[in-house]
This record gives sequence, structure tokens and C-alpha cells, in this order.
Amino acid sequence: MKIGKLVKSHIPGIFAMCEKAPGELPNLMDKKYSKEKFGVNFPFCMEVDSIRETLRFWSNEYHVCGKTVRVTSQWFAYNQFEFVNYLVDKKIISKADAANLLHSMQASNAESAVQIEQKRDAALARQSSLSRRYRAHAIGNSQNGFIRYILGRLEDESFSEKDWQRAIIFFGGACAYCGAKGELVIDHAIPINREYLGEHKLGNLVSACRDCNSRKAGNDYREFLFGETDRLERIKEHMHKNNYAPLRERDNFQQLQEVFDMAYKELVPLADRYIRIINCMLTEKEK
Ligand SMILES: [Zn+2]
Repeated sequence: MKIGKLVKSHIPGIFAMCEKAPGELPNLMDKKYSKEKFGVNFPFCMEVDSIRETLRFWSNEYHVCGKTVRVTSQWFAYNQFEFVNYLVDKKIISKADAANLLHSMQASNAESAVQIEQKRDAALARQSSLSRRYRAHAIGNSQNGFIRYILGRLEDESFSEKDWQRAIIFFGGACAYCGAKGELVIDHAIPINREYLGEHKLGNLVSACRDCNSRKAGNDYREFLFGETDRLERIKEHMHKNNYAPLRERDNFQQLQEVFDMAYKELVPLADRYIRIINCMLTEKEK
């Protein structure tokens, strides 16, 4: 299931809850509350007449507590944990339902990532005049590497192996996800990719056993540890202690994401250009 579908399917439940607890509707119309609860940059809902940025709200209208409202459409995959947590918190769904929901979302996220990759490769093949070659290095790998490179070097932070060793001690010399001891590797709590925009900063590095590291893969730590409050808190404490403020918590996250998309796309014409230059040189030499 996709995040938009997830939110839409629970809007009736949320508004039914508001009818019983009328104090909640003004909260849901408050931008700050919405940011805090869901991590989205728009109020959860707004009265139809007061909406200026119409594109940021779905067109369906709901009647709740005597008001006519529309719900914001500005959801990203990483908002799913907060959203599901809210549903549990407000007793709209049970904890078990929440775990099932997140599980099914994880599966569909993985699936759509593969589909997106395939679609993109096909589109690139159509756009490019360059030859297609079986099993040649896919540009997507370089693009992802490029994004990782950028995310690994933002702002002025440096740390050494000693700092990393201290982080391992903070997690009790064990896996931050399951508590297992033994061989530990570096895991990025928030994945370093275009979707999550995690960074290679000390606060985002946690110790993980090989098993957790491979099972977590490209998922966010909050998704991976859903319901494990103590471990989640410990990781948040580690982030806080090392002054790590995830990019997705910034007000301009959306613009940031657009710039990352630009960087991602710009690599394709750049590669094409160099291939052409080098091809020219190769043919000249033959003459
Ligand atoms: Zn583990």
C-alpha cells in the first residue's frame, strides 16, 4: 500500500474520532501540530474556504464538527510511521493492525522501488542515442552513488574511528536494533538515499549485527523497530547527543528533495556527453 492510500483510507476514522473529541479538529488544522505529529509541512486538514495552495490538498471534501474541510496531499513514504503511530495513539487502530499495515507497506515500497528502477532504465534507453549493452553498469547505480556521495559530505562535521567506537559503547557494545553482541557493522538509521535523505553523520550511525543490517536494508529505523519504544528512544537520544537533525525535519525539505532530484538527473546528460567526446576521439584516431 502507498502512503496516500494509507492516509485516505483512515480519514473517515480520524474524523469520526474528532466528532467524539472535538478539541482534536483545531489541532489537525494547525500546521505546527501537523508537523509534530506527522512530519508533514501542511496542516492535516483545512477549511475549504481558507485553502490558498489548492494543489497541496486533495479535492475530496469532508464534513466534520460542522465544518467542510479538505485533507493535505503532501505525504511521503517516511511519514508512514508517524501517521500509523497517530492512529494507534488515538485508538483508531490496534497495535497489531499497525504492525500489519507497516509490514504491507514495506513490501509494497520494496516492490515499487524495483518498478521505478525498471521504468527509469527503459525511459533512459529510449532517450539516449547511445547503444544498449547487456549487463553494462546501469546509470542508476552511479546516480545513487552520486547522491550518497553528496549526503556523506554535507555541512561541517568530522569524526574519527574513536567517535564511532564511543557510539558502539553508547549502544552497550551491541546491535542497536536487537541487542545481539558479536560482529557489528555501521548502519545508517535513516537510509542514505534520495527518498529518505539520511546523512553520513555520527548521529545517524548505529551499530548493527549482520542479520539486522541485511534485514533492515533500505528501510528507516522507525519502520524497522516499530513498537520497540526503548530501542527507538535510545537511537533518538544518540542522534540528539551528536547534534544530528535529519534533513526531513527541516521546513524546506521539499525544496531540498527537488534539488537532490536535479543532481540525480543531471548525471545522465553528463555521462552521455563524455561518452560522445571519447567516442569522437576514438574514431579520429582511426582515420
Ligand atoms: Zn541485530
